[in-house]
Amino acid sequence: MNNKIISQDTIVALATAHGVGAIAVIRLSGNDAISIADKVLFTKKGLLLNLLQKADRKAYFAIVKDADIVLDEVIAIAFRAPHSFTGENVVEISCHGSVFIQQQILLLLTKSGARLATPGEFTMRAFLNGKMDLSQAEAVADLIASNSATSHQVAMQQMRGGFSSKIKTLRENLVNFASLLELELDFSEEDVEFANRADLRTLIVAIQKIVQRLMDSFEFGNVIKNGIPVAIVGKPNAGKSRLLNALLEEERAIVSEIPGTTRDTIEDNIIIDGILFRFIDTAGIRHTTDVIEQIGVAKTFEAIKQSAIIIYLFDIQELTSRELKSVVAEIEEHLNKYNSQLIIVGNKIDKADLAYTEREFQEFKNTLFISAKYGNNINALKAKLVELFDSRAVNVTETVVTNARHAEALRNANKSLIKILDGLNTNQTTELIASDVRNALHQLGLITGEISTDNLLENIFSKFCIGK
Ligand code: GDP
Repeated sequence: MNNKIISQDTIVALATAHGVGAIAVIRLSGNDAISIADKVLFTKKGLLLNLLQKADRKAYFAIVKDADIVLDEVIAIAFRAPHSFTGENVVEISCHGSVFIQQQILLLLTKSGARLATPGEFTMRAFLNGKMDLSQAEAVADLIASNSATSHQVAMQQMRGGFSSKIKTLRENLVNFASLLELELDFSEEDVEFANRADLRTLIVAIQKIVQRLMDSFEFGNVIKNGIPVAIVGKPNAGKSRLLNALLEEERAIVSEIPGTTRDTIEDNIIIDGILFRFIDTAGIRHTTDVIEQIGVAKTFEAIKQSAIIIYLFDIQELTSRELKSVVAEIEEHLNKYNSQLIIVGNKIDKADLAYTEREFQEFKNTLFISAKYGNNINALKAKLVELFDSRAVNVTETVVTNARHAEALRNANKSLIKILDGLNTNQTTELIASDVRNALHQLGLITGEISTDNLLENIFSKFCIGK
């Protein structure tokens, strides 16, 4: 590990979001964190606060002064190593949330001996000090970025170590075998077998099953993190744009009440019951309304490839039950190929009789009748989306892989596991099997950070923003 990575400096950064807030938290971490804070913190009477002499993890009122200028009244807390987020001495200063105050205090602390932190440096120190493993550290980033109840739950679980403890156990079991195999290599002249091949095979098969399940969960994990892709397809004028707006409307209204958020940032995502749905604009729903074209089957198929859930929307006055049947048959053929699900939605129910319409289309399962224009039954459609998601969802208390780096390592580990099994089947030499076992161990270790390189660490932590 190079010096750049394990630098001894005391670092400082804003821990809360940039911009104005009621309160901002400035965090110092490193050997000198407490003594640096002591240079700028005073009591009401103008004496040094002297955090060094004060109790650990207790909040103290203080005044921050730069020479004679009072910058702010704050609350300071010292966390002595190793009982802190980073495992080092940490001081947290809660100041008033003006950007000017934040900057002045940061500046003052850098003048007093701290250095501004690089992105992810706090979390990297936590990792290097054994406070968490790599996958937990990465979960911190996910947790901060989580935007729905499900993604939050998954990140939380990963941060608490659910994922890595599973991998660690697998690795430990394999390490035992690896050492027996290495022992065989040491005694290779004598042709002894320390590692029972049948037991090894049983273990590898068991590991592979779990690795496979983790790999499968990645698809789901990705969906949780980025939203479940949903496409609304159907003929021009069926009411697709209207429906999309109806679905997004409530969301936009809620979001625009929160100061500082803009419509643009939420795009076409909605959260229903804590689940993030992402509406994909495959057919350019909002841009092609006046383009006259046919059913748009080609576009529908394109959309199916990209989405987990398809809403086929039709105008109940425009489509007969027979026509619908042929369209649905064609869509379903494609659905099976991509494992997506279909909801059939008849629109413009405000213009027709519901009972009559229901009778006409009674042969279709998963069918709803709505009015995109007047908002009828939109809630039933939302409930249907959630229901379909639940039916394909893994229980989120199970381990879900959400990280592309982990998925890659799992895939590579899986390749080595397959090679080991092949090797056992074809009575390969101990040398070859041992080498594949070493590879598998290496890949699994990359996930938890038991094996790490400076490059890997820098790559991971540089994706964090400053102050984390
Ligand atoms: P798209 O081409 O599928 O995106 O369809 P639009 O959303 O642009 O809607 C086409 C026309 O149908 C517009 O004039 C809408 O106002 C109208 N429309 C959409 N939904 C409804 C509905 O539920 N009831 C009625 N009466 N008209 C609707």
